[in-house]
Amino acid sequence: MSVPYEEKAKDGLERLGLTVAFEHLDTAAQRAAAENWSYTHFLGYLLEDELAERHRRRVELNLKFAKFPYLKRLEDFDFSAQPSVDRRLFEELACGRFLKEGRNIVLLGPPGVGKTHLAISLGVLTAEMGHRVYFSTAMDLAYKLTKAVDANRLHRGLNALMQPKLLIIDEMGYLSFDAVQASLLFQVICKRYQKSQSVCLTSNKAFSDWGYIFSEDAIMASAALDRLLHRSTVINIKGESYRLKDKLKAGITNSSLEILGDESS
Ligand code: ADP
Ligand code: MG
Repeated sequence: MSVPYEEKAKDGLERLGLTVAFEHLDTAAQRAAAENWSYTHFLGYLLEDELAERHRRRVELNLKFAKFPYLKRLEDFDFSAQPSVDRRLFEELACGRFLKEGRNIVLLGPPGVGKTHLAISLGVLTAEMGHRVYFSTAMDLAYKLTKAVDANRLHRGLNALMQPKLLIIDEMGYLSFDAVQASLLFQVICKRYQKSQSVCLTSNKAFSDWGYIFSEDAIMASAALDRLLHRSTVINIKGESYRLKDKLKAGITNSSLEILGDESS
């Protein structure tokens, strides 16, 4: 006796891993009959929840993969407190066109002005668009790549860094690299550039100081900058630390902050 199509439908959905559609099939079929839906309306209805659930799971995985130190959103950024950051520019970046174009985003400025916050916000948006993103401080990245060299796995390590749609390199320039680390970072920047894959980079150093970051190798520094800046949006953030501003508002003076050893000052 042949299996009825009603049963094949359920079994097929389950075997194809369409678990949400599988669970909703009976109620959707009842509604379709009661409300006289067309066949395509029924199919669209059934797939809608399945696709939404898949997207939700993908975003969850992307956020896990990203290794953000914490989550920050663009909505949490107080643009009025930071007039040197153009809200409209970030609204445009939030549409994700820079990712398609392989454009880099470079956030420059002193400590505490929101560079990491904005970089993470763009990363979260990228993850929510369904893309892979990976966050690392520049030093951690250099350290991991040095480890990969030691384990004879540099090729694999570099390839892994080519996969995410967006690579966030935070805190470039807080510490300078040794010659090996500088050349490894340089390779990452070159490879991403060749593949038109976006990098979002934050730094407290002006471009003129990049020789210092790259182990006093001015030629490598300018070659790295050349690639980073070729297709890029550079955002220069000015002003005082946001954390410091809050403390000053609360009436704590500069000298007491010094005594407290405030990290944002
Ligand atoms: P930076 O990376 O430039 O040193 P952060 O992004 O770490 O600065 O910002 C320091 C703290 O202040 C973070 O908690 C961040 O969320 C917050 N912050 C900075 N600027 C703003 C802002 N304009 N609106 C809201 N929060 C901000
Ligand atoms: Mg930071």
